[in-house]
Parts: sequence; structure tokens; C-alpha cells
Amino acid sequence: MTNKKGFTTTILHSDRLLKPEFGAIHQPVHNAVTWGYDDVQGLVDVFQNKTKGYAYSRQGNPTTTALENKVTQMEQGIATVSFSTGMAAISSTILALMKSSDHIIASSYLFGNTRSVMQTYIDMGLEISFVDSTDAEQIKNAYRENTKMVFVETIANPATQVSDLEAIGDFCEEKKLIYMVDNTMTSPYLFRPVVVKASLVINSLTKYIGGHGNALGGSVTDTGLFNWLGFPNIAPIIREQIRPEMQGITQIRKRGLRDGGGTLSPEAAHSISVGSETIALRLERACSNALVLAGFLDQHPMISKVYYPGLKNHPQHELATSLFHRYGGLMSFTLVDGIDCLKFLNELKLVIKSSNLGDTRTLAIPVAQTIFFELGKEKRDEMGIPDSMIRLSVGIEDIDDLIGDFSTAFSAFN
Ligand SMILES: *Cc1c(COP(=O)(O)O)cnc(C)c1O
Repeated sequence: MTNKKGFTTTILHSDRLLKPEFGAIHQPVHNAVTWGYDDVQGLVDVFQNKTKGYAYSRQGNPTTTALENKVTQMEQGIATVSFSTGMAAISSTILALMKSSDHIIASSYLFGNTRSVMQTYIDMGLEISFVDSTDAEQIKNAYRENTKMVFVETIANPATQVSDLEAIGDFCEEKKLIYMVDNTMTSPYLFRPVVVKASLVINSLTKYIGGHGNALGGSVTDTGLFNWLGFPNIAPIIREQIRPEMQGITQIRKRGLRDGGGTLSPEAAHSISVGSETIALRLERACSNALVLAGFLDQHPMISKVYYPGLKNHPQHELATSLFHRYGGLMSFTLVDGIDCLKFLNELKLVIKSSNLGDTRTLAIPVAQTIFFELGKEKRDEMGIPDSMIRLSVGIEDIDDLIGDFSTAFSAFN
């Protein structure tokens, strides 16, 4: 595998490096649940990590391996484990690496379900502090003797706060903490967390990497920067058998994927793999649509606020400019008092009222009433989520049609 070629070229030609049968240009969908060996020693060697191979598909198969290799190359890491969803990747990675009474410092602006699973882990004995990740000082102040990990997202969803990624990376390096970065909102096309010294990178493959709203998936990539030899929670058998740089990702594959069981299906892996071929093209278009639309909404008299890192009035605009290739496809906005956000959404005809993000189609959702409903008003206020907030995942439609749809919706309230 080589990283010498460009981003898209590398993705497009990576399946052929595995030499699929008959010169197929895609890695085929391997449906087999199990693999047979003529000489049983072959099976024994796979179980004992002496040779690479497949035994039972819960731990991986050639179709998921091909996708994992692609994600590894996109993130310029050393290895990736794929999961059935982004949430499975997050929950399984924490399960695989943490012990009760370990401490995690996490962003207070986490994706709602991530925040929720963190609460489950607190209930099970992990200590987790939620702090404002736009300010590295707050991360530093939360540090304790038993801190093992820092978990942040690049751009938060829905209010688009940008984490102080570089300064947090320096701090994690100094304190030898696992630095886990959820790169879903930016994707490796806009940003590679390895450049800010991330140890582990999470991607919800469901979003920009798959990109078409037709398959769920998730992944965790080891960047190769973390020294697993200094990490106390590696199981003795993995310490003995696995070379140092692969110990963390091996423990994630065994305790997270194999034991947790959140396996990506080969069919979904294939859909995501094909979708990923056009990520650069899709994101360029979605990001330029988003920038135009954000500017249009920002100056509209019926809008009270737009949350988008590409706007100069965004609190982390300069940080986002320095870190990311573009500003992403996701924004949120609030309407002026007197315009009901649910009524407004019903006036949009092209934009789909729907959850999800990173689809080719533009999707809109009222945040407080749906994805952040369970949290309650108090936590929403803490996370900076007003009741009238609408989240928009901008797709790749023609921009005039998107502006037209919003213009028509606004005119219903004149
Ligand atoms: C969607 C999302 C997830 C979860 O991914 P699923 O594939 O839906 O499980 C995690 N983190 C972020 C930032 C997300 O947007």
C-alpha cells in the first residue's frame, strides 16, 4: 500500500491491490460466515495469531478488510477495525480499552447518542468529565491521576463548535493519554486527526464516507502515534503475542468487535466502499453548497442565528480555517421569534425532513424535539441547543434549487 498517490486515486485503486479473483475491480461481497482449512494447522495458526487469515466472520472477512484498508489509507493510520455502526465503534472501543474507575475527559458537545452511552459507562463505574473542548485549558484542568483518554469531535453536531484539536493533542502527548477523535463531521477528506497527534480516529461510515444513506457502518483507526507499551490495560496475552504498535487495535478487534459482536455486514461494507470512491467529489460540492446557503440564511431577516464554521461570525472560524480543508456540509440555524420551526420545516418541499447527515440529499431536522429530546432542557441549554434550532445537512443538489426551496418557505411567512 502506498500513500504517494492522491486521495481519490488511492481509494479508487486500493481494492485491486488485494488481487480479487478474475481481475475484479471491486473487492467482492464475501458472504461466508466461516472458512475451511485443508490442514487444520492453518486454522490453529489463525486462532493463535501466527498467520493472517479468517476463521469466523464476526471478527472480519475479506470484504470488511478491503474497506478497513481504505479507511486506514484515508486517515493515514496503521490499521482500522470496522463495526456495524459508528456507535458500535465508539462504545466497543471504550469497552475494549477502559477499566472501571479509569477517567475519560470528553467534550460537553458530543453527538447525542455518544453522550448517552458515556452516561451508561458512568453508571458502570467509569469516571467521565464533560468539558468545553473549544478551550484546551478546560481539558487540562479536568486532568486527574487516573485519566486514560480524551474524547472529542472535530466539529460538534448540531451547534458546530470546533475543538481546540492541536492544543489538546499536545496535552495528550505530554500526559501519555489516548487521544480519541471522532472525525465523522469532517471525514478524512476535510481533516486527518493524525496531524494533531490523535491516537485513535472514529468515523461513522454511515455519514460522508458511505455518503448515500444506504448503509450503516463505523470504524476506528489507529494512527500509530500512541505508545501501547505504556498503557496498563492491555491484556497479558496480547502483550505476549502482538507487536507493540498493534496491541491497541488488536485489543479493540478482540474485546471490542469479537466479544462485543457489532460486526459490519459484508453487504454494507461493499456499499460503503463504493460510496467512498466519490467522497472528495461529494464533499467539495456539499461544502460549497453549504457555504453559499449559510451566507444566504445569515443575511435573511427571518433568521436569528446561523451556526456554520465557514461564516466569519463563527467563534472558531479562524481555527476551522487553519485546520480543515473546507468547512463541512452541516449547519444549524434558528428562526426569529414568531416563526415556528416545525411550521417552517413543513414549508420546505425539496429539503427532506429527516435525521442522518452526510447524505447526497439535503436533510433538515428540528433538534430539541428529536435527536436531543431525551436529554431534557437543562442539558440542552448546557450544550448550547435552543428550542428553535434546525439542523441542516447540506447535500449535492444544484444550489439554485436549494436557495429556491428556502426562498419559497420564507415567503409563506410574509
Ligand atoms: C452519526 C454519528 C455517530 C454515530 O454513527 P452511526 O453510524 O449512526 O452509529 C457518531 N458520531 C457522530 C459525530 C455522528 O454524527
